[in-house]
Amino acid sequence: MDKNQKKTKIVKEIKVDTKKCVGCRACEIACSTFHAVPKYSSVNTARSRIMVVMDEVRDIFVPVRAGEYTEAECNGRNRYMIDGKEYDECTFCPASCPSRDAFKEPDSGLPLKCDMCESVPPLEKPMCVDACTFGALTYEEREEAVVAEPQKRGEMEIGLKTLIKKYGLKKVMDTIARVSKE
Ligand code: SF4
Ligand code: SF4
Ligand code: SF4
Repeated sequence: MDKNQKKTKIVKEIKVDTKKCVGCRACEIACSTFHAVPKYSSVNTARSRIMVVMDEVRDIFVPVRAGEYTEAECNGRNRYMIDGKEYDECTFCPASCPSRDAFKEPDSGLPLKCDMCESVPPLEKPMCVDACTFGALTYEEREEAVVAEPQKRGEMEIGLKTLIKKYGLKKVMDTIARVSKE
């Protein structure tokens, strides 16, 4: 490769048009069944990586995809005013945060994060977009120059840390040792 040639990456994007969202929650169902183990074996929207925030009285439906895990509640928050109503600061937040149950695997408490339905073979578009027949979610890909980033903690590291916090190091180590022998 030409060393002057800039590295690029494909950025995947889901556009949300809240005006088209009717709150049917088909996106939540599709996401949870795609991520069931084994795949498509069950539906449990508590395992979905997308959550539709609803205000049926005001006809407001906002699909929010799960973002980064955070160990502690944040200090700086956003306050939303929509149609004259003020929403709770955490209402539209995508974080898996200790302050609430959203975006946590119901059995283990592990954080859930949208993975854009990465799979082999790849899907034509993410499950939630495919399930949204109202056009509230649309999928786009674009090429972008790569900017060198400091190393981030991987999902596995975050997941292990959460498990250790919940069950203790010994129990987690014993379970890993047992599972690796199976
Ligand atoms: S499937 Fe589409 S219309 Fe239905 S809740 Fe999800 S985003 Fe809204
Ligand atoms: S849910 Fe989001 S906004 Fe609320 S404390 Fe946690 S990170 Fe902050
Ligand atoms: S892109 Fe995939 S993982 Fe992300 S919210 Fe949609 S269905 Fe779930």
